[in-house]
Amino acid sequence: MSLQPPKPTLPTANPASLGHPPDSRLRAARVRFRPHHFLCALGYQGKGYSDRFTANMSAIVLGRLRAPDGGRTIIEVTGATDDICAPCPKRRGDHCMSQVQIAALDSRHAAALGLAPGDRLTWAEAQVRIRHRVHADDLDRLCRGCGWLALGLCKAALRSLTGPTDRDTAP
Ligand code: SF4
Repeated sequence: MSLQPPKPTLPTANPASLGHPPDSRLRAARVRFRPHHFLCALGYQGKGYSDRFTANMSAIVLGRLRAPDGGRTIIEVTGATDDICAPCPKRRGDHCMSQVQIAALDSRHAAALGLAPGDRLTWAEAQVRIRHRVHADDLDRLCRGCGWLALGLCKAALRSLTGPTDRDTAP
């Protein structure tokens, strides 16, 4: 398995990033997500790659994003490993053991959600963006290759966020 980093596939950073100032208080509180982890966080149901991975992801998703007021959590988009990746047994420095596949996953999710490294948005803004830009059936393409897709948890979470859409009711 190659650990060579792929050529950058994500758009370049956008320092203006949705109007949030580089406030040191927010910097201390913010979470860093690579693009595909926005949808992973939405679908998270307490399963992960190891006990440490799951404890960390639960602290981020259940302890912060889904806490009362969790919608105000600032998330900064990164093009490399992030706060969810930190204890992952597949992490190798700033890269993943499956870097090529993960970079492709990030690239598809970044395009779908209109995100670029350096963007900052709240979790509430991220959910609005997900609701407007992604349909549950899109995950078959966006998440191609992810072992969690077949469980259906992520599609169910997305359907629960969006409710019935025109695509669901089209003849
Ligand atoms: S199917 Fe995989 S990549 Fe897609 S949202 Fe779920 S966990 Fe993330």
